[in-house]
Amino acid sequence: MRKHIVAGNWKMNNDLAQTENLITDLRKQMKTSDSEVMIAPSFTNLWQAFQTLREDETIEVIAQNMHFAESGAYTGEVSASMLKSIGIQTVILGHSERRAYFNETDESLAKKVAAALANDMRVIFCFGEELQDRKAGKEENIVASQIKTALFHLDANAYKHIVLAYEPVWAIGTGETASPDQAQDMHAFIRKTLADKYGGDVANSVSILYGGSVKPNNAKEIFSKPDVDGGLIGGASLKAEDFYAIVNAF
Ligand code: PEP
Repeated sequence: MRKHIVAGNWKMNNDLAQTENLITDLRKQMKTSDSEVMIAPSFTNLWQAFQTLREDETIEVIAQNMHFAESGAYTGEVSASMLKSIGIQTVILGHSERRAYFNETDESLAKKVAAALANDMRVIFCFGEELQDRKAGKEENIVASQIKTALFHLDANAYKHIVLAYEPVWAIGTGETASPDQAQDMHAFIRKTLADKYGGDVANSVSILYGGSVKPNNAKEIFSKPDVDGGLIGGASLKAEDFYAIVNAF
């Protein structure tokens, strides 16, 4: 059975004290859940968050990004081995904000994915179409091209360490969600794209998360769809009560 995963992407929010407070609040909300729960604080707070939660196996601390090089003259960047050295095992790559504001492309993301896997990390790979693509009926072409360019250099075994996050750009932080049927249709298409290249076993083993304005009031319906295996949560992950309402929506 595929893993259910709910991951909170905190983006550039929360200083050290706020990070500690939110983790304290999360712990109060925590119940046993079959889903894997993850939080992605900023780089400066990863170490503290990891230390605070290290005895606690119910929340994994993950990174929001990393560079593809192992080390070198890349001012301001952080490598996979640096993340690994503080205990981080999972990294989000390809978030639409990285693509839009930091010029990340599927070609450069292919290198990041390879570097993360070479360091035995797990990747949550994000992709999704923009509004104009959907209006033009091109959403499947765009998504297929993102997946093929960034991931199809991998062999089938690598997918044990890949989680996909379909995040239509028009739904991120906008309050507008894909309808549960739109999410299901795209997730089924993504699975078929994987199956065509790697076969059904691989395609059926990969968790595909939906991201884009998931809130406590819409999570249950979205998560009820057969190809939706969880969520990548932005805004609603900043409030412990809302985040756990989403975790408990499975
Ligand atoms: C995200 O940034 O990945 C995201 C899904 O944000 P939000 O939930 O705020 O739309």
